Amino acid sequence: MAELIFLLIALAALFALAMNRAPLWAWSAFVAVLTLSLQVGLGHGAFHAPNIDIGAVLGWGIAGLLFALSFPDIRRKYVTLPAYRALKGAMPTISDTEREALEAGTVGWDAELFSGTPDFNRLLSVPPITLTAEERAFLDGPTDELCRRLSDWRIRHELHDIPDDIWRFVCEQGFLGMLISKAHGGLGFSAQAQSLILGKISSRSPDGVTIVMVPNSLGPGELIEKYGTEAQKAHYLPRLARGDEIPCFALTGPFSGSDAASMRDIGIVTKEWRDGSETLGLRLTWDKRYITLAPKATLLGLAFRLFDPDNHLGRGEDVGITLALIPTDHEGVEIGRRHLPGGAAFPNGPTRGRDVFVPLDAIIGGAERAGQGWRMLMSCLAAGRSISLPATAAAGAKSMLRSTSAYARIRKQFNLPIGYMEGIEEPLARMAENAYALEAARAVTASMVSRGEKPAVISALLKYVSTERMRQSVNDALDIHGGRGICDGPSNYIQGAYQMVPVGITVEGANILTRTLITFAQGALRSHPYLITEIQALQDEDRERGKASFARTFDDHVSFTVSNMFGALFHNVTFGLFASAPRGVERTRFWWKQLGRGARSFALVADATVALLGGGLKVRQKITGRMADALAELYLLSAVLKRYEDDGAPRDDLKLVDYCARNCLYRFDQALIGVLANFPMRWAAWLLYPLVFPLGVWRRPASDLAGKEIARAALQPGIYRDRLTRDIFISNDPADRLGLLEFALEKAVAAEEADRKLERAIRKGEVRRYHNNDWIGEAEAKGVLTEDEARRLAELRDLVARVIAVDDFAPEEIRRAEKTSSAAGTTSRAEHLAAE
Ligand SMILES: Cc1cc2nc3c(=O)[nH]c(=O)nc-3n(C[C@H](O)[C@H](O)[C@H](O)COP(=O)(O)OP(=O)(O)OC[C@H]3O[C@@H](n4cnc5c(N)ncnc54)[C@H](O)[C@@H]3O)c2cc1C
Repeated sequence: MAELIFLLIALAALFALAMNRAPLWAWSAFVAVLTLSLQVGLGHGAFHAPNIDIGAVLGWGIAGLLFALSFPDIRRKYVTLPAYRALKGAMPTISDTEREALEAGTVGWDAELFSGTPDFNRLLSVPPITLTAEERAFLDGPTDELCRRLSDWRIRHELHDIPDDIWRFVCEQGFLGMLISKAHGGLGFSAQAQSLILGKISSRSPDGVTIVMVPNSLGPGELIEKYGTEAQKAHYLPRLARGDEIPCFALTGPFSGSDAASMRDIGIVTKEWRDGSETLGLRLTWDKRYITLAPKATLLGLAFRLFDPDNHLGRGEDVGITLALIPTDHEGVEIGRRHLPGGAAFPNGPTRGRDVFVPLDAIIGGAERAGQGWRMLMSCLAAGRSISLPATAAAGAKSMLRSTSAYARIRKQFNLPIGYMEGIEEPLARMAENAYALEAARAVTASMVSRGEKPAVISALLKYVSTERMRQSVNDALDIHGGRGICDGPSNYIQGAYQMVPVGITVEGANILTRTLITFAQGALRSHPYLITEIQALQDEDRERGKASFARTFDDHVSFTVSNMFGALFHNVTFGLFASAPRGVERTRFWWKQLGRGARSFALVADATVALLGGGLKVRQKITGRMADALAELYLLSAVLKRYEDDGAPRDDLKLVDYCARNCLYRFDQALIGVLANFPMRWAAWLLYPLVFPLGVWRRPASDLAGKEIARAALQPGIYRDRLTRDIFISNDPADRLGLLEFALEKAVAAEEADRKLERAIRKGEVRRYHNNDWIGEAEAKGVLTEDEARRLAELRDLVARVIAVDDFAPEEIRRAEKTSSAAGTTSRAEHLAAE
């Protein structure tokens, strides 16, 4: 018994020291006390071995060593400097463009997760969704009106363009200037408001929203607002806000897609005679593609590499990436041709120019901003990536759930609403989870941006996760709708989203790259508490300064690692029972603790990954991709738990919160298992495995039963379903394709009892249901249904027929005009190049 108590006390002390990052002298004292206790016989028995003298020597030796190392000079000479020498060259290097990207953003909740001991108050202090009265009125007023005016079919199919009346409306109402400050004629809306407005429009027309989205994301408006000269602000911003100028921004080229910084587009600083005087300007040559709004644009924002061979600007020859504003009617600008992105109709196309001369003041921010283009772009992207795509992805998930849950309740096969079938429950529950979690993550991230953060890592993570989940929801919606979702036409409400999914996946950093490289491989540099300082110290050309900085950080890093090793083991063995949770979160306390526990494991594996893969971090993308997934699951779980509190902890949502949390943690475990199973240094994997999974891998995804409850709740019209699909465009007008669904759903639920009676009668053969027979009339005549029931079922029958109807066309209506084919004379640039 005494041995057991001794063992427990020793273990408790060991864990307390490690988890509280005790200084070395405390460790030394611990080992000394332990050794002394064993010597005097406190550990008599199992610990009082005959070879105690060797043990004592060892114990006192370790205590002495730790004590010696607690003196900074000794530690520096024998530990830190050898580590400095060993790590120099082994750690990942940071290129200039990466450094600019890293310095552009801020760290926040991501750093808390990387720390292994997140301060939940930091998350809970992010304000819940807050809009000013003006923003709310705009969301409920002009945004709703725009949604009503948008016809997805007209845009996608009939016009293959955005109609002029829509352009006029968005310009008149100020939609194009949401991010431009009021002082410059814009609406000056918060990130949260922009996110909600974009989401609502995209829930109506995923195609149509691009004309509002692009002017309000990375492009001339934002760049001028943040970096423009006073003259540029005064001239362009009011014009952009009013829609007098339509902007586009051209970064991507045929040879510089994901690796945009490798662009071949070039500007040369030169003097030319213009209008009788010698003018300092830029001679630009570019070839860009995929540029959204380019075919419509009047103002081209252009990224290029600037050279100054005669050193007019006094910065040497290679000035660096620079951004300029060029009116599209400027001599030499080629613009106007269109790509066809996945059948969508928003304007998108290439632009080229050869030796186009523009004055120096075309540079955004003027000559002093020449060469700062990449930093400016990254700074905007760090925040901007949190807005547009997460907004449209969350809205996509919500609107798919809204329409699909209604359809699944209305559509019957085998005499049963298809939503009641287990096979359908599965994707439906997944859609509910996606809708809840994506909205949660969208909202909290937009709030972070609203209060001034530029969450570079979170925005990258959210971009790929939200668009991937949206893809999942759109695919699930299609599967549940069967042929009704596949056949296109004015009444199809899924195809528009389906066609836009790949666009969301690809733009603002294609998802594979964003997942495998940006989120973790580069994100770790940003969010890890010590890594970036260590790398900077190792790369510091002033070696003495580098060594001093390294020494300071390295000590902390070692105690951080030890703390996470013991912390992860402790919380994983005790199932997170002793992990902390914020105050006042009674119903979700368990999940907060699990979040804390997961963060410990993540911090440990993340730390080992960056330390051991070092310079190989960027190429071990299957490892870094899984680490990004693990981080993403923790982020989604954080967002879900916060949303629940922000929404006032509604009891109805608790099952869905549990469902989301269980699945997040399951996928989190799977991601970490994947990392450890494939970790290149096997010894490290064997060391980490018992710390992260000491009791094996026991987590399971949410149960089938829980999925059933989630799906059934989503099929029920009411507050819960409304909350789950909040802030999307909802119509109750039966003349509208989505309004019809809502209308029919209410009727179907109200007539359910009568419908059951009718079905029973049909099964028994009392009533015959064939096209040539009025079976409801027959049922009424035979007393199966009352007059009122028969009336309601007849109304429902007609509504259901409309809900399930798909469009059909006369052949000549859908035949493409011959003039559009290359055989008839037009030849695309790709065909030209192929011919050459
Ligand atoms: C509809 C549409 C609208 C667009 N609008 C604009 C716009 O307005 N302005 C603008 O400048 N650009 C725009 N783009 C360009 C867009 O940003 C690029 O398409 C995107 O950056 C990817 O470049 P890419 O298509 O050349 O693919 P590539 O760079 O060729 O990439 C192909 C694949 O390789 C992966 N990959 C590449 N490098 C790595 C790596 N290091 N590690 C792992 N995987 C990697 C990518 O993830 C991708 O899956 C638009 C594109 C589309 C399709």
